[in-house]
Amino acid sequence: MAKAQSIDKPILVLFRTDLRMADNRALSAAAATGRPVIPVFIFDEESEGVRPVGGARRWWLHQSLSALGHRMAALGAPLLLRRGPMLEQTLAMLEETGADMVLWNRRYDPPEASIDAEMNTALGKTGIRTLDFDGHLLHDPSLLKTGSGGPYKVYSPFWRALIAEAEPRDPVDAPSQLRPFAKALASDSLDDWALMPVKPDWSGGFRSAWTPGEDGAQARLRDFLDGPVSGYGESRDIPGAQGTSSLSPHLANGEITPFQIFSALKSGKIDAPSHDLEKFRKEVGWREFAYHLLFHNPDLRNANFNDRFDDFPWKPDADLLRRWQRGQTGYPIVDGGMRQLWQTGWMHNRVRMIVASFLVKHLLIDWREGEKWFWDTLVDADPANNPASWQWVAGSGADAAPYFRIFNPILQGEKFDPDGTYVRRYVPELKHLPARYIHKPWESPKAELEQARVKLGDNYPVTVIEHQNARKRALLAYKAI
Ligand code: FAD
Repeated sequence: MAKAQSIDKPILVLFRTDLRMADNRALSAAAATGRPVIPVFIFDEESEGVRPVGGARRWWLHQSLSALGHRMAALGAPLLLRRGPMLEQTLAMLEETGADMVLWNRRYDPPEASIDAEMNTALGKTGIRTLDFDGHLLHDPSLLKTGSGGPYKVYSPFWRALIAEAEPRDPVDAPSQLRPFAKALASDSLDDWALMPVKPDWSGGFRSAWTPGEDGAQARLRDFLDGPVSGYGESRDIPGAQGTSSLSPHLANGEITPFQIFSALKSGKIDAPSHDLEKFRKEVGWREFAYHLLFHNPDLRNANFNDRFDDFPWKPDADLLRRWQRGQTGYPIVDGGMRQLWQTGWMHNRVRMIVASFLVKHLLIDWREGEKWFWDTLVDADPANNPASWQWVAGSGADAAPYFRIFNPILQGEKFDPDGTYVRRYVPELKHLPARYIHKPWESPKAELEQARVKLGDNYPVTVIEHQNARKRALLAYKAI
């Protein structure tokens, strides 16, 4: 009798940074019990330590939840939406539904991981069973250790250790059906969460660039593996080409897992040199490394990994920061990057490195300002990749680029965007300039500027700082520490 009862008891499945149905082990495990499944997304920005989601990711979240909601409804178990502290909302749902099990996929952002640990304890005490699963990462950051038992601080040995472990597991299929819960349950309305920008609605460029949701993620992966992955080793550095996968926002929102990516890469059906496939795997490995660093340095977005940088003589300057944010520095590749970010919520990795280096080294503005801006404006804003990459560029990070290696924005532009395709796309006021001046319009003869209708200081800014002076100033500042 007791058995018959428990088979009808529903199971709660919590959705958070795993907005997918395939390779969602929590969902599949719940479906496999044959018991009613109640999927619920709890939007928690209230629990202690949780960083509010930035503007660009709010837009993404709305779209992605809407896509997931449609798919869930088609399987008969509508996705419920609730907002508030994770534990409080889960307890309320348990009370309402009589569920005796809660399943979720693990999160690795330290405040979120602590909430989940607390949930385990609190729910356990009330006799509720909890189960958690992998999916977001290939490795568990708490388990991978160096020979001496500590965390990895250098990428290459980390990567070697990671791939020396067992092959990543195969992804699990999406459940083909879910047993619905008999009673109708209240859900928030997605529109009421007001995640989308209204006045002004800046999301036009986002809509044309992205298809949030699991289907969009799988389509990106297929497109990438059908084409750009071949040659990835070189083309990944060319911002004017579609040379990378653009999977980062899908990964950040858990619409696709690294297990699915690794499995697709070894399918044997991809027409690409093995070194390109390996390079791509290694880039996904940087994401694992960033989470490893974050796990062992939970305050990565505030505290320098290398504390020598605590005394760095930053020069805060609100006006220069604003010009950088708006893409008005007078350096075309920097401005192109910042405008791509503003228009599409994403920026090419090579250009992220250039603009970050420019902020930190040319303008001597604290990397944390850049991290915050990216957090708000990137659709792939990620609690590990973002601070780890900012610290990498600033020189304060683990296995970081040395501070004294200062990117020259002109040479970087000429090398990686030689004909100016990228700059012309995002800095249209320069689009008629000949390639030899596109990265240094100030060197262009007057007649050429006139012909290209460029008026420096008028429709395109003069440089906010001269490169060689900036370089000398940055090196002096570095000497101080
Ligand atoms: P691909 O080249 O197709 O790579 C595949 C995947 O590997 C990416 O989706 C990403 O998950 C991972 N990856 C690739 N490069 C890196 C890297 N350097 N570090 C960590 N993971 C990597 N990435 C984010 O996902 N979120 C961020 O908030 C973020 N902030 C960054 C800030 C700065 C200053 C810099 C320099 C880099 C940042 N990156 C961030 C890393 C990188 O720029 C993006 O992951 C990459 O551009 C995403 O494009 P893609 O998916 O086409 O990459």
